[in-house]
Formats: sequence, C-alpha cells, structure tokens
Amino acid sequence: MSKYVYSFGNGRAEGKAQMKALLGGKGANLAEMTNIGLPVPPGFTITTEVCTYYYAHNRHYPTSLAKEIYLALQKLNKQMKAKFGDPKNPLLVSVRSGARSSMPGMMDTILNLGMNDVVAEGLIEKTKNPRFVYDSYRRFVQMYGDVVMGVKPKGKHDIDPFEAIIELKKKSRKVHLDTDMTTEDLKDLVRLFKKAIKQNTGKEFPEDPEEQLWGAIGAVFGSWNNERANAYRKMNGIPSSWGTAVNIQAMVYGNMGDNSGTGVAFTRNAATGENEFYGEYLMNAQGEDVVAGIRTPLPISELKKARPVIYKQLEVIRKNLEKHFRDMMDIEFTIQEGVLFMLQCRVGKRTALASTRIAIDMVKERLIDDKEALMRIEPDQLNQLLRPVFDLKEKEAAVKGGRLLAKGLNAGPGAATGRIVFTAPDAEEWKDRGEHVILCRTETSPEDIKGMNAAEGILTAFGGMTSHAALVARQMGKVCIVGCASLEVDYMSHSMKVGGRIVRQGDWISIDGSTGEVIDGKIPTKPSEVVEVLINKTLDPKKAPSYQLFAKIMSWADRYRTLGIRTNADQPDQASNAISFGAEGIGLCRTEHMFFGEGKITPMREMILSDTVEQRKKALAKLLPLQREDFEGIFRAMNGFPVTIRTIDPPLHEFLPHDKATQKWLAREMGLRYEKVHRRVQELHEFNPMLGFRGCRLGILYPEITEMQSRAIFEAAANVIREGIDAIPEIMIPLVGNVLELEHQAKVVNRIAQDVMKERKIKIKYHVGTMIEVPRGAITADKIAEVAEFFSFGTNDLTQTTLGISRDDSARFLVPYVEKDIYAKDPFEAIDQAGVGELMKIAVEKGRKTRQRIKIGICGEHGGEPSSVEFCHNIGLDYVSCSPFRVPIARLAAARAALKSQMK
Ligand code: PEP
Ligand code: MG
Repeated sequence: MSKYVYSFGNGRAEGKAQMKALLGGKGANLAEMTNIGLPVPPGFTITTEVCTYYYAHNRHYPTSLAKEIYLALQKLNKQMKAKFGDPKNPLLVSVRSGARSSMPGMMDTILNLGMNDVVAEGLIEKTKNPRFVYDSYRRFVQMYGDVVMGVKPKGKHDIDPFEAIIELKKKSRKVHLDTDMTTEDLKDLVRLFKKAIKQNTGKEFPEDPEEQLWGAIGAVFGSWNNERANAYRKMNGIPSSWGTAVNIQAMVYGNMGDNSGTGVAFTRNAATGENEFYGEYLMNAQGEDVVAGIRTPLPISELKKARPVIYKQLEVIRKNLEKHFRDMMDIEFTIQEGVLFMLQCRVGKRTALASTRIAIDMVKERLIDDKEALMRIEPDQLNQLLRPVFDLKEKEAAVKGGRLLAKGLNAGPGAATGRIVFTAPDAEEWKDRGEHVILCRTETSPEDIKGMNAAEGILTAFGGMTSHAALVARQMGKVCIVGCASLEVDYMSHSMKVGGRIVRQGDWISIDGSTGEVIDGKIPTKPSEVVEVLINKTLDPKKAPSYQLFAKIMSWADRYRTLGIRTNADQPDQASNAISFGAEGIGLCRTEHMFFGEGKITPMREMILSDTVEQRKKALAKLLPLQREDFEGIFRAMNGFPVTIRTIDPPLHEFLPHDKATQKWLAREMGLRYEKVHRRVQELHEFNPMLGFRGCRLGILYPEITEMQSRAIFEAAANVIREGIDAIPEIMIPLVGNVLELEHQAKVVNRIAQDVMKERKIKIKYHVGTMIEVPRGAITADKIAEVAEFFSFGTNDLTQTTLGISRDDSARFLVPYVEKDIYAKDPFEAIDQAGVGELMKIAVEKGRKTRQRIKIGICGEHGGEPSSVEFCHNIGLDYVSCSPFRVPIARLAAARAALKSQMK
C-alpha cells in the first residue's frame, strides 16, 4: 500500500531532498533541513500522489489518507506539546502547497489554521497576548475565506472584499497601518469577515478545526488547477500530471510583537550574482506580508544592526545551506520571540547574469565543477545577456532634462521602453495589437502573470526585491522595478501620479531595471555588453565584466559539446554576426531571400513571366552576376567555414506583383502588355502553394534556374579561392521526396561544377545534398542517401507535412491546442518528438545504412530551441543550424545535451 504522509520534526524526517517528485520541493527540503539539524517547526507532507489520485478519482482521496493524517497529527501534537483543536492548549498549523518545481505564489497557502472563538480564548490564556491572537485569527479567516470559500474580488478593478473591510476599519479609526489597529479592532474584523463570508457564499465559516483542515487540503489540491497555476505551468513547461504536495506544519509566529518577525532571503544576490547575503525582513509581521508587498520591508543588512545574534545565526545557516546544497538558496525564516525558525529553502531563482556569475564563482570555490556549472544555466536565459540596455548618454540627458519621474528597486535588470497600461488583461490586449507596453501596478499578484509576460517591463508601487512581482519578472527575464513608493496608481481614471506629474494609459515611459529609474517618455535602447564586444566591436572585452562571464560559459560549453553549430544566414553581415557568436558554418542560406534585394526583383520577375526557355535564360543571365556577388560576400564572411546553399524553394507567385499598378509598371519595363502580365500572374495562382509548384519541382521543370544558381555559386567560389580564401559550397536541394528528384538536380549541379572548374582551371571542394522535409524523403532516406552527400532536416516543412498543419495558418488553433495540452509545446517551436522526431530517427538510421558517414544536420527553426537541440544530439546529428542570435543558446544547449547523455 502506498504511503501518503511523511512526517518531519525534532531533527528527524521520513523524507529527504531527493524525494521532490513525491514530496514536492518544499516538503523535500523541509525534510532535508530537519535532517541536517536546522531549526524547522515540525509537520508532515501529503504526497503529490494524493493530488494525482484526487484528480483521477473525481476529487476523492485514497481511503487510507484520513488515518495517516490522523496519526501524523497525533505525532505533531506530541512534538509540539499542544493539541490541534484543543481549547486549552491549542496547536495551530499552516497548510501550504508545494509542487516538484517551485511555482512562486501560484497556488494557495493558509496560515493559523485550527482557530475558532474558543481556541482564540485558549490561546490568549496561553500567550497572554490578545492582540497577537486576534491578528492571527483575522488573518486566518481572511485567507480561509479567500482560498477555501472563494470570497475574492469580482472584476479586474475591484478591490479585495476583505481589504475593503480593513480599509473601512482603518478609516473609521483614523489609523494608517495594520499594526496601529487595536485588539478590539482586530476582533471586530474577525466578526465582519465572517459576516462577509456568509453574505457572499450563504455558508457559515467553519468553526470545527478538522473541517477547516480538510477544507484547506482540498483547496490546495484544487489550486493546482487554478487559472494562474495553469498559465505558469504552460510558460515553464511543468506537466500538469506532476501534481502538488500539501505541507502541514506547526505554526511559529512572526507577529507576536516587536521581538518577532519574518523574512525572506537569498544566499547570494539574485540579480547580480554577487556573493552577499541578500534579503528582506519585517518585524511583527506574518508570512505573506514580506512577499505580498503590502509593507515595504527592510534590507537584511539592517537585521545585522538590529538583532546581531539572529543575524549571526542566519549567516551560519546561509553558509551551511550553500555547502550542503551547493547552490544559491532562497530561504524563508520566522523569528518568534527572539527564536529563529526556518520555514523553507529552495534553489533560488536568478537572472541570467546572476546565474552565470554564481556558477562560475562556485566552480572557483570548488563547490561544483565546470560541467555542473553548465547544467545550472538554462540556455534560453542567455537571451538576457544579449538584451539591449539604455543608451547611457540619452538617459543622462533625459534625467538632466527633468524627465526622471521616480526611483524604485532594481528588481529585474535591462532596459524597457513602452506605453503605460494598468491591468494585466490590457497588457495582453495591447501586445496582441503590436504595442510595446509597460505594466504599471500598485503591486502585482500572481493573477497578473499572463499580463506580465506580455509586457516589456513591469513597474510597481509597493513590494520588495523578493516580492512576487520581482521573482516572477526575473524568472521571465523581464525588466522590472518594484517598491516605487512615489507612484500613486489610480485604476479608475487609468492614470498615475508620479514625481508630481500625472501620466496616463498609453503614454510612453522608460524603466531601467538595473538602476530602478523610471523615466518619462521614450529612451533609445542600446546593445548589451556581449553584443557591443562581439558584434559591434565597440567595447574592450577587458572592460566588459558580463561579457567575460558569457565568454567563460561559452568556452566551457565548447569543451563538452559534440554537436556542430551552424547558422541560418542569407547575408554577409548576418553570417559574420553568427561567427562572432561562435557559429562554425552556414547550415542554410535561403537564396530566394537574395532575389528581393536591390535590382534583383525585376529580372527575377522577368524570368518567371517568360514564355520560352530563351526568354528565361535571358532573364537569368541578368541575375547571374548579382547572385555571384552575393555568394562571394558570404564566402568571404565565412572565411573557409562550410556554406550550405539551398537552391530556389518558394512558390514562384510569391515573387510576383499582385497589385495592378506594379503589374502595369512591370509590363512597361518588360515591353509586354499589361493584360499578358496580369494573365500570367493569375495562371501562377495555386490553391495550396506550400504543397504546389515549389522546392526542387521548380528546378526540375526549369533546370536553367538551377544551372544559373550553380554557376553563380561555383564562379563565386572560384573568385574567392583566387583571393586566397577557402570556399566550401554545399549545394542543397529542397523538398525532395523521391531520389529521382535529387538525382535530376544533382546532375545539373555536377555538370555546371565541372564546366566552371574547367573554365577557371581550378579545383573546388563541394558537396551536393538535400533537405529532408517531407515524410517520403525521411521514409526513403536510404535511397536518397545513394545520391545525397548530406541531409539537413527542414523541420519547418517536415512538421507542416507530417502533422498536416499549415505553418502559416496554425496560430489560430495551435495556441488553443497547447492550452488544452494536445501538444505540450507549439510543434513549430519545439520538435514534436513523438511524430516528426520518429521520422527524423528513421531518416538518420536509413541514411547511415546506405552512407555510413553521411553528414546530417537540421536547419528548421527548431535548431535553436534547447529541447530540440537535445533531441538532435540524442539521435546523432552532426550539427544544428539556427539564427545568429540563437547560436550561443544552441552552443550551451548542445553542451548540456552531451553532459546529460554522459550522465545516463
Ligand atoms: C524548413 O522547412 O525547415 C526550412 C528550413 O525551410 P523553409 O523554412 O525555408 O521552408
Ligand atoms: Mg522548407
């Protein structure tokens, strides 16, 4: 029979850190901290298996659960020398969620559970502290009313009904702070809260502690499926099948007076990665007060002065935790009448900068090795190191010009400029309209995550560096400023007062998440240090500390990766950017993009509209020197790296003018009648152009196009080889599903190659291969490999043709598909491993059966997406190719894939 409940307390726990899948992150680490002797209040964890069971059995629990909970409670009563529900010597508990991977604030928590009118009296007797008891009681009724009984604000502009009651009370008592309310005020709040619950739900607030406990357990399991938790899981790739655990723990109280308090901290700076204790605390406060941003907390350095003994104890715990977990940890603690308790620890979320710095520092400190350092950095996070910052001069000018509106806490680094919106749904709506927005709020709550994701940056009036807004923004890599005290947001009038000025919805604002400055109007952004050093070459690497961190990680990545990294580039500047980022060749040069360049579209159109081979050849002759020049540029930029050039691919009508005026102009240019041009455009219309006259079909029907392109490639190669630069062209034929298609095109390419080499009296190393991008190509890869010297997976088309989903029309239904979990991720973003991936495996296996050492890569968009890169490594590809700015991501993803397979 399964064990559903795991106890911890008094130095011994049934669980441990490695049991996260079963106990959730919080439960597993509470157990671990107990085992290593840290002061953790005793409690027990209900496993994630119960959650899974609960959803699989129409919200019913396994039959043995009640007994296990009963026994665990008995044990807890004994450990605490108090009794849950006992009016004379009552024990109160907290009930918290805790999934395998942390989902900050997305699920529900209830504190002080077990309280009722009789218990309150008993607790007053015990503590002689009526104010504390009624403060705890009103918090409990408020949380329970919200989380379990569903008394919440109705619309996006409504305020929380309980907060409204508190505000009224404070107004009538003419006080400002919660702490200014008297015991009587708090007692009255309990009464008013219960009344509001009855009015809103028709139900009485449950007085029976056991009923309260089951209600809370049900609510926590229920919160696994609330809207914000679902949205968070989607964004972070957490499967809904994991479920949450429930942690029930003896309460310790930070709200017992001025000798009590509560805090959250990181063992190192989560924004910059510096090795300093970093956090916040509030005295006479409970749990959520610090993170919820209701009162702005004090920095942890103040605690050193105010409570040196506690601070010292925390410092020791900080060191021990880092030594034990070998990572930067995020902790929650409570001080109850001068005694320190640890309530939680988990691996701390951090910015990309902090992530790299901490990983590198920990290697120096010999806590981890370089391999583990690489496993600590999520490849997508590198985006943050490549992100723009404000142009300093422009910013200084703006500040001097009086545009600095306010200063807040620099919670999420980077620079963002956008138009002001005040609600998360507005942020989403405006983003959908193509606007860049900054979401400005009094504070953000976890409900706002979709809007935060849509915004360029987030600005809040309240909250500290570890508030929900700050945590979530950092994790998303969003620019974020919190605790901007001079901000007065008025949701009703869609405006805010800041720095003595009124700014309104739609106005432009700029925020610097690295310094906390809020600036009126737009400020141009400028490239990151990495881009300045590598791409623009405007910064000395010695003066660029974050570039140095980036470079170190990249050098370690290159040590371990076995996949080659190439880039998709059609222009010399793109190609050299990619080389600067570490690309080792071009995996896809889409030649058709070149035809849209200066002076090329007209001869291209002439070519398409030609009636005879002669006419077509005449037009192609005009294109030849232009293409040759393009290829020379690319070969020079690649300086000896291989260049995969694909022959023309898209449906021809994409090049044609569709409006009357341009058709008329073109007719005049070509000396044709308008009607003729118009008719030809209509003739080229296709019902399904993506499945129509495109890819190698063009070159097979019009071999003179392939001839021209091959000639341009080989002549360009000959020209640069003469300059002393190596050029290794790899000519790639698109959309091949039948080996005879490839054979036809390869013959043309080889004939032209021989001609050019003879004419120029030069030897050119070259290869002819194909894209694998239709299912028939993958399935007959053994045949195709008889001709192809290399394969490159075109996973954009392969996904389109395997799933039968038009890549250009998919957004409308794929977004809801992903929401409904039909596909875990958009298959055009991350390879659909079960479908497309299987075809890829078949192609690799069959291809290598025919030609053992055939070079195989990928050039679809998936080539820069970390989970797809890992898949490509696992099925034995030689390289991945992606857009230039994703090259560093692919390098790191490739190294991690190699390390992961070593570990298996
Ligand atoms: C592909 O299909 O994956 C590919 C790289 O080609 P394109 O996107 O140009 O069709
Ligand atoms: Mg394609």
